[in-house]
Amino acid sequence: MADRELKGRVAVVTGGNGGIGLGMARGLARAGAAIVVSGRNADKSRRAVDELGGLGAAAVAIEADVADEAAVNALVQETVDRFGRLDILVNNAGMNIRKPVHELTLAEWRRVIDTNLTSAFLASRAAYPIMKKNGGGKIINIGSMMSIFGASFAPAYAASKGGIVQLTKAMASGWARDNIQVNAVLPGWIDTELTTNARREVAGLHDRVLARTPADRWGVPDDLSGVAVFLGGPASDFVTGTAIPVDGGYSIQG
Ligand code: NDP
Repeated sequence: MADRELKGRVAVVTGGNGGIGLGMARGLARAGAAIVVSGRNADKSRRAVDELGGLGAAAVAIEADVADEAAVNALVQETVDRFGRLDILVNNAGMNIRKPVHELTLAEWRRVIDTNLTSAFLASRAAYPIMKKNGGGKIINIGSMMSIFGASFAPAYAASKGGIVQLTKAMASGWARDNIQVNAVLPGWIDTELTTNARREVAGLHDRVLARTPADRWGVPDDLSGVAVFLGGPASDFVTGTAIPVDGGYSIQG
């Protein structure tokens, strides 16, 4: 990687105040990008901004619920007001409600789909005219192993993450001529708040993941920092519409 190859670029990372989002934000910050961390929890966001500042990045927090159209539009507008541009959008914020289909309410279904999928549509739509006017941009959508595989305990989550891959392809083909590359990242099992809860709620999950992962470990958020820099930077200018697993080999096992 060229030294500070993202200097002068501005990145918005939804859910960038913790877990995978913060891991990606750290990579982008080390590569020289200014970072807007977006989330709902102000304390977490403050800590993340302090940490990213310590890496030498201009970092700010802008509070937004990614499922709220007006809040997402305001997040993008405020980013442009503060930094004058938006080069990299990481649609990372997400959540899960672990229940089988027959126990899931419509409200729960909608909450997961709105948070994980509709959010990426809203933020990308808001970013598009700004990126187009700047001559290009990078959108990174966070899928999951459940973009590929099913799981009885996560129907809405799996639907949202399958949808992320198809939304990625639709935006990639629509915006390629505007020099906007849109790609998805499919993390394997990464140790975060989300999966701490999963391990508590799904019996045997921890050991099943280890048994299937050739790398023989769970991932950590910083395992996602390199792919963020690649997909956020010029090395990926001819890469669009892909879905890249970062999973220690989990998805190559039969
Ligand atoms: P965390 O629970 O650690 O982080 C989720 C982040 O999303 C938080 O920063 C949270 O911020 C934010 N968030 C959640 N809901 C909203 C909302 N409505 N509006 C704004 N922000 C929101 O989870 P992970 O880091 O594990 O997950 C990040 C992404 O990676 C998700 O899309 C997840 O599906 C995906 N993923 C995770 C995997 C894993 O193994 N961990 C595997 C595959 C995919 P706040 O608390 O401030 O609301």
